Amino acid sequence: MATYQHILVPVDLSDDSDNLIARALDIAEKMDAAVSLLHVVEQPASYGGAWGTWDTTGLEAQMLEQSRVKLAEIAEKNGIASERCHLEHGVPKVHIHEFSDNHGVDLVVVGSHGRQGVQLLLGSTANAVLHGASCDVLAVRV
Ligand code: AMP
Repeated sequence: MATYQHILVPVDLSDDSDNLIARALDIAEKMDAAVSLLHVVEQPASYGGAWGTWDTTGLEAQMLEQSRVKLAEIAEKNGIASERCHLEHGVPKVHIHEFSDNHGVDLVVVGSHGRQGVQLLLGSTANAVLHGASCDVLAVRV
């Protein structure tokens, strides 16, 4: 059986995040592996029209701050140290791959579906992570 040293749990901050973390911690305990959390704050859609474009800078700052607080709450509840929590801004799949490649991640534990519904076999982020990963990926059914 493969052993893992560094498990990444990308979280969308929904209630399902706790299930993913529990699964990762369970594996980590058996293998003495580290567990990191990553949340990616997605770019808000830009609004424009005849009157010009809305400046979304304030909204982005607010989203980052709210996400930081929520991620810290989830980490504390699950006993994950703050230095193992990471927040990025951009496209989730890009940062998940980048983080994995740069931090020696050998297993990504991702939710099969996130906030965008269960109409597909795999949600879009889960699908993208699975296809582009250079390490093992566990899709946990949520
Ligand atoms: P989705 O593909 O949006 O249905 O989400 C499936 C899974 O991808 C979630 O359960 C998370 O594990 C991960 N995920 C989705 N969005 C994000 C995000 N913004 N940041 C980090 N992980 C995410």
